[in-house]
Amino acid sequence: MRDTLVLNASFEPLSTVSMNRAVVLVLQDKAVVEQAHPGLRVRGATVDLPVPRVIRLCRYVRVPFRRQAPWSRRGVLVRDQHRCAYCGRRATTVDHVVPRSHGGGDTWLNTVASCSEDNHRKADRTPEQAAMPLLHQPFVPSPADAMLLGLRAGERSELPEWLRTARTAA
Ligand SMILES: [Zn+2]
Repeated sequence: MRDTLVLNASFEPLSTVSMNRAVVLVLQDKAVVEQAHPGLRVRGATVDLPVPRVIRLCRYVRVPFRRQAPWSRRGVLVRDQHRCAYCGRRATTVDHVVPRSHGGGDTWLNTVASCSEDNHRKADRTPEQAAMPLLHQPFVPSPADAMLLGLRAGERSELPEWLRTARTAA
């Protein structure tokens, strides 16, 4: 099932919803389609709509507090642009900076993208113990970034340029 990115009336990314939910919001005139999947349409007895990739709410929704972006391995790889935090080569694994055996958790600040060689070499040690300094410090993505991280890589690359490059400094 495809996910649809939901923007606030102010164009700020809010969340992702299922394609069905997005279609319902559009049919109820609660949202408009900002970008559709080319060539794909939702067809039903009374419905013929482009499949929405990005919708925007017609009315501004006040977000009472900013949620922290949910952590995920895929999110860490996307945040670090699939670059190993230790050598800068292509990363396919996620390394715990402080190993889990030392109490390190699944958090944005304790995980970095890593190539499998470095992940294996670092093993059950901290960067200091392994003498493997981080090339850059991990950071917590903003909730808006997280919405983009939640999309599949292919979906992200198809977003409008202004959204794809939307980033908030940590
Ligand atoms: Zn590496």
